Amino acid sequence: MLKLDGVTVRFGERAALDAVDLEVAEHETVCVLGPSGSGKSTLLRVVAGLQPADAGRVLLGGADQSGVPVHRRGVGLMFQDHQLFPQRDVAGNVAFGLRMRGVSRDRRAARVEELLELVGLPGAGRRSVGALSGGEQQRVALARALAPEPRLLMLDEPLGQLDRTLRERLVVELRELFGRLGTTVLAVTHDQGEAFALADRVVVMRDGRIAQTGTPLEVWQRPASEFVARFLGFEN
Ligand code: ADP
Ligand code: MG
Repeated sequence: MLKLDGVTVRFGERAALDAVDLEVAEHETVCVLGPSGSGKSTLLRVVAGLQPADAGRVLLGGADQSGVPVHRRGVGLMFQDHQLFPQRDVAGNVAFGLRMRGVSRDRRAARVEELLELVGLPGAGRRSVGALSGGEQQRVALARALAPEPRLLMLDEPLGQLDRTLRERLVVELRELFGRLGTTVLAVTHDQGEAFALADRVVVMRDGRIAQTGTPLEVWQRPASEFVARFLGFEN
């Protein structure tokens, strides 16, 4: 589904991504873990087309994406500060991407309700986003990202602003939802508990490079380096 081939992104002297190779299979959920500044967000931005690569290639479904604009890549994005449109109601937010794609009014209404049910907010379409709790806003942002049926859903610290109890619950719900929909997911977090709960496979990043990749169990049981072990919180 997704392949990065030697992708490098530089900001001045510093490489935010340094010749990164990565593959994500269809229906797989991959979580990118790593300390702040390790290049996680840059990785998502380069796949989305929000950030050009200085070297290397991004392929989606086998096709090179260089020169393909953001809205043609078929990826859904959800950021930490989910940036809902405060002047629109819940339905208006969820329908946003559908309207852009020219889906008819009736189809939009049906699809919005379907999506709201999916994220556990049935009948919430007419509510104002300002009146929602943080967790509810997060669900609306997720429904909005899922609306255009992206072939790849990318989440950047999606639950970052929520309290731990709510995050733990949402992670379980998300995992169940992605499994049911067969969504391909590339998610970024600095929280290993979240990554381990959500992911089929985790990728640990350090200074723009991949320090280790494997199933959560593999990485947990056999950290590839002292850096990974430390990051996972093992003391020596
Ligand atoms: P993470 O998401 O893991 O915290 P980022 O991908 O945001 O890391 O950043 C990786 C590195 O690239 C950091 O050193 C950051 O300061 C730098 N960086 C990211 N975006 C920019 C930018 N637009 N301009 C300059 N430097 C940037
Ligand atoms: Mg980031």
